[in-house]
Amino acid sequence: MNNPLDQEVTVLKGIGDETAAQLAGLGVHTIHDLLYYLPYRYDDMRLRDLSQVEHDERITVEGKVHSEPSLVYYGRKRNRLTIRLLVGTYLVKAVVFNRGYLKGKLQPQSTITVTGKWDKHRQTITCNEVVLGPHEGVGDFQPVYAVKGQLTVKALRRFITEAFEGYTPYIRETLPNFFLDKYKLAGTKDALSYMHFPESEKEMQQGRRRFVYEEFLLFQLKMQALRKMNRERTNGVGQNYDLQKLKTFISSLPFSLTNAQKKAVNEICFDLKSPYKMNRLLQGDVGSGKTVVAAIALFASVTAGYQGALMVPTEILAEQHAESLRNLFSHTGLSIDLLTSSVKGKKREDILNRLKTGEIDILIGTHSLIQDDVNFHHLGLVITDEQHRFGVEQRRVLKEKGESPDVLFMTATPIPRTLAITVFGEMDVSIINELPKGRKPIETYWAKHEMLDRVLDFMEKELRQGRQAYVICPLIEESDKLDVQNAIDVFDMFSNHFQGRFKTGLMHGRLPAAEKDEVMKAFSENEIQLLVSTTVVEVGVNVPNATFMLIYDAERFGLAQLHQLRGRVGRGSSQSYCVLLADPKTEVGKERMRIMTETNDGFVLSERDLELRGPGDFFGKKQSGLPEFQVADMVHDYRVLEVARNDAVELIESESFWKDDQFLPLRRQLEESGALSEDKLD
Ligand code: ADP
Ligand code: MG
Repeated sequence: MNNPLDQEVTVLKGIGDETAAQLAGLGVHTIHDLLYYLPYRYDDMRLRDLSQVEHDERITVEGKVHSEPSLVYYGRKRNRLTIRLLVGTYLVKAVVFNRGYLKGKLQPQSTITVTGKWDKHRQTITCNEVVLGPHEGVGDFQPVYAVKGQLTVKALRRFITEAFEGYTPYIRETLPNFFLDKYKLAGTKDALSYMHFPESEKEMQQGRRRFVYEEFLLFQLKMQALRKMNRERTNGVGQNYDLQKLKTFISSLPFSLTNAQKKAVNEICFDLKSPYKMNRLLQGDVGSGKTVVAAIALFASVTAGYQGALMVPTEILAEQHAESLRNLFSHTGLSIDLLTSSVKGKKREDILNRLKTGEIDILIGTHSLIQDDVNFHHLGLVITDEQHRFGVEQRRVLKEKGESPDVLFMTATPIPRTLAITVFGEMDVSIINELPKGRKPIETYWAKHEMLDRVLDFMEKELRQGRQAYVICPLIEESDKLDVQNAIDVFDMFSNHFQGRFKTGLMHGRLPAAEKDEVMKAFSENEIQLLVSTTVVEVGVNVPNATFMLIYDAERFGLAQLHQLRGRVGRGSSQSYCVLLADPKTEVGKERMRIMTETNDGFVLSERDLELRGPGDFFGKKQSGLPEFQVADMVHDYRVLEVARNDAVELIESESFWKDDQFLPLRRQLEESGALSEDKLD
């Protein structure tokens, strides 16, 4: 039986091939598509009292034509019609462009309704809509649809109205009654009508509410279905680690784990042991101690007879990790190696050989770990640090090499929960929400550029006490356009200022790797007291004696990134400081600086950052992996998102979801989205 909604839009009056092609450009092919092409906003056509309207606002008013309108032509087709209109007790002007034909229809004393922009100073409305007659008959809220090319919003409204009139009986409910009742949601038919033809603000909201929920529910069902399939597709082996050895290793650490670390370790070990593939995100603020958790997981995997890999985004970080793991594992006899793009020739060959034979237990490196010629003997666990810098591509390569290891993604960028459950919705999440004991919160100050002298005095005081400092600059090359201090200038300035007293080093992404290493080494050994650097030190760098950070042009960074940078200090037992040098021009910019001075909690910051910048900017423009919703908004509708998430988790786990008829429409949509097919994994 064919569903009439599946017919092409050309069955509607007034839609020929040409219009159909234009609609296809919007992804609208069938009647169903048309009905579900939802407005993204509404024009408010409610009558307004002119005394309450601000300058430049868009308004709709009803008035009486006061006198014969005047029509002025300029150019062949262009004209301006000026109507003197009595609106209540106001006599205003209504100006209409290029619709001279209206002149004859505007009899003095007749009532018309106009919509347009109100110029308060000139007492003039520049109209884009004129309705001959009173306001009745004009909907209070006119839907505005996204259109392209020749297609107008008006035409789209007409097509949708027609589709609605002819095909309402065929619209099917897609949500089970159970949910409609539980959340008092409008049924599909009503909700569509509310979205396209709302008669009140309330209807508009009701329509939207239903579709926000439905969109989120479907999305979360997809995520949960992926997660379920991932779990059920066993890789055959649980990693049977040696609990006794693991315990001994943990008690050999120079400190005892925080409760949050213990919990994360337990969750990870549970995954290792289970036959399904681990797909877990480990979130923990800067300095919360993720590295040691990673080390424990790697150790466990090795005692089970597997190899482990740790992938990081930069060479500096790879080296740091290699060093800290070597320290942590120094008494265990584990064999650890480092593979980056600067490891070449014989040395590289040697590593690759020993990796293949299984002689190397743990390999640390950058993306060079997943190059073609890198083959493990028995890879059991892959950990990636700062995972959002790793593209989907890299993960795919790993999979294609036939390796099906457990995977743990670590990130120090606390991801707001709303984003975490959308972008990483198919993953399990462990959170380290506690810092090791004895850490002093970093004191953060915001200073204008004119206060630099005082900042330098402050810095000098710290340096005199034997401490070290970072100076962070946003870009490395002079750019007129961006007007940013470049790191080299700043370096010159600081080395002059502190000359003879303290040594200054320079670090940026364009330095050859060997030079970078040298500078980093000199800084960590306190041969250099002051490090001027671009954001290359953002991730993971650990020099506990550095207690002072100055960030130039701090308004150019996102809050999450500022927090990351700030996390390079406060790693030892002494009080640390961070000074943000910034002259933000906007209120939002100022607010962001204030937030930084007020909290050290990365999760709080990330929530605020998301609110201030929106989800698109949160991960940076590229590869954000953010899904696009038609009506829902991840930030503003986050409560609904949470609810939908919980419902999706329950549904996917329940038997009735996969059997009962009431869930058929949801199951069908899930199928159509491709979420249930094998090759969509990862
Ligand atoms: P991040 O989560 O930012 O990667 P690290 O793993 O680099 O944090 O840890 C930061 C510092 O805290 C390291 O010097 C580490 O040795 C130390 N550390 C980690 N866990 C603990 C703990 N439970 N108690 C005390 N210090 C710890
Ligand atoms: Mg780290």
